[in-house]
Amino acid sequence: MKIVFATNNQHKLQEIKAAIGNLHEIVSLKDIGFEGDIPETHDTLAGNASEKSHYIFERYGLNCFADDTGLEIEALDGAPGVYSARYAGEKPSFDDNMNKVLTEMQNKTNRKAVFKTIISLIIDGQEYQFEGACPGTIMTEKYGEEGFGYDPIFMPDGFQETFAELPLEIKNQISHRGLATKKLIAFLKNQ
Ligand code: IMP
Repeated sequence: MKIVFATNNQHKLQEIKAAIGNLHEIVSLKDIGFEGDIPETHDTLAGNASEKSHYIFERYGLNCFADDTGLEIEALDGAPGVYSARYAGEKPSFDDNMNKVLTEMQNKTNRKAVFKTIISLIIDGQEYQFEGACPGTIMTEKYGEEGFGYDPIFMPDGFQETFAELPLEIKNQISHRGLATKKLIAFLKNQ
């Protein structure tokens, strides 16, 4: 089956293609001639993931999936959450976003947080959702050079290193996106 992954992130696309192998043909937005950004107007991860997959399905009639991720910090009442990409402004750098979290978290003793990913899949007009969650701790400063986003300030439970210090293979096994993707792939293997 041909399935569109509604993302402009080539890294995510390659990851999924490698995991699915020859079972299904995963194509990108570029492959179907879509350019630009898909609107994300909801205030929940599930709402945004669903909006993105429906946006493509309604315009192209193709089976597709989309994902949305957020970092929810307990002491900040769940922020940055669904606004993780633009926490420090309209087009912030990863450093801008991390610096804002570190400032907001100064003097906070509860440093618990969770990364969540929701994947919305539409097959023949029917929507399915898959969730992955990775609990951890917000550090008081940045550690490590790997990864992206908030990786240098997030240490997953059960580890003594941040996502930016752990090897990518380990991160993919335990991460929010890795777990949601595993559920998606298990589902697609039965299609
Ligand atoms: P997206 O929905 O995958 O684009 O993720 C939204 C934002 O969450 C990104 O811009 C990053 O700031 C952050 N984020 C998503 N996944 C990760 C991750 O694996 N590590 C660190 N930050 C992430």
